[in-house]
Amino acid sequence: MRARKRFGQNFLTDQHVIQQIISAVSARPDQSLLEIGPGQGALTSHLHASGCRLKVIEIDRDLAAALKSRGFDVIVGDVLRQDLTSVTSEPTRVVGNLPYNISTPLLFRLFGLDNIVDMHFMLQKEVVDRLSASPGNRNYGRLSVMAQFHCDPEKLFEVDPVAFTPAPKVTSAVVKMVPRLDKPVVMHTIFEKVVTTAFTQRRKTIRNALSSIIDENTLRSLDIDPRRRPDTLSLDDYVRCANAIGVN
Ligand code: SAM
Repeated sequence: MRARKRFGQNFLTDQHVIQQIISAVSARPDQSLLEIGPGQGALTSHLHASGCRLKVIEIDRDLAAALKSRGFDVIVGDVLRQDLTSVTSEPTRVVGNLPYNISTPLLFRLFGLDNIVDMHFMLQKEVVDRLSASPGNRNYGRLSVMAQFHCDPEKLFEVDPVAFTPAPKVTSAVVKMVPRLDKPVVMHTIFEKVVTTAFTQRRKTIRNALSSIIDENTLRSLDIDPRRRPDTLSLDDYVRCANAIGVN
C-alpha cells in the first residue's frame, strides 16, 4: 500500500527498533492501551500479542479496514476530533509513532485527560528535545514548560530515518511521559497565558515580555530578576507568576 504523505505516513520497518519500543512499553494483559496511528500494524500486532485490551485510532480508511480485518479494535477517524475522554474512560496507556504534523496539538489534548497512565511516543527528535529541555537550554520553551507541568518527559532513544519506509527527512526519538501526581497548584488558564505570552517574546527581558500582565515589582517580590530572559525561568517561576496574577 502506498504511503500517504498528507497523513504523515512513515511506516516503521526496522524490527530492532520495533522491539525496542515494544520492550520499553512492556504491555501486560491487565492493562488498557490506546495506539494512535497504527498504520500497517508494526507495533499493533506486538501490543496485541501481549494480551492487553487494545484500541487503535487510525485516520486512513484503507489502513483501518485492513487492521479491522486482522481483528483489531479500530476507531476510524482523526484522533484530534475524537472524544478522548470516553476513549480513555478507564486507566489507559497511550502509544504511538505519531504523524509529526499533529504531534503538538495532540500532546496538549492528552495532557488535559485524567485517565492516562503513561505515554510512549515516537516524535521528531527536535520535539522530544524540547519536551525534556531544562531552563537555559536552547530547546527550552513553551512546550517544555507546559509538558513538564503535566508530565515527566524522558527521552529513551533516537531513531535513524532508515528505520522507516519511506524514510522521513528528520531524525526521530522515542519519549516516555508519565503524568505527574504532584502537579503544581495554579489556575491553568492564567498559567497557560503567562507561559505563552513570555515565550512569544522570548528575546525580551521577562519584565518586557510580561509587561501586559504582571508588573516589575511583583516579579521582584517573587525573587525573579526582571532582567532575566523568559527561557531562564523555571516551571516553578512561571507557576508563581501565574499565582501572583491570580490573587490580584
Ligand atoms: N504506527 C505505524 C508504524 O509505526 O509504522 C504508522 C506510523 S505513521 C508515522 C503515522 C500513522 O498515523 C499513519 O498510519 C497515519 O495514517 C496515521 N494518522 C495520521 N494522522 C492521523 C490522525 N489525525 N488521526 C489518527 N491517525 C492519524
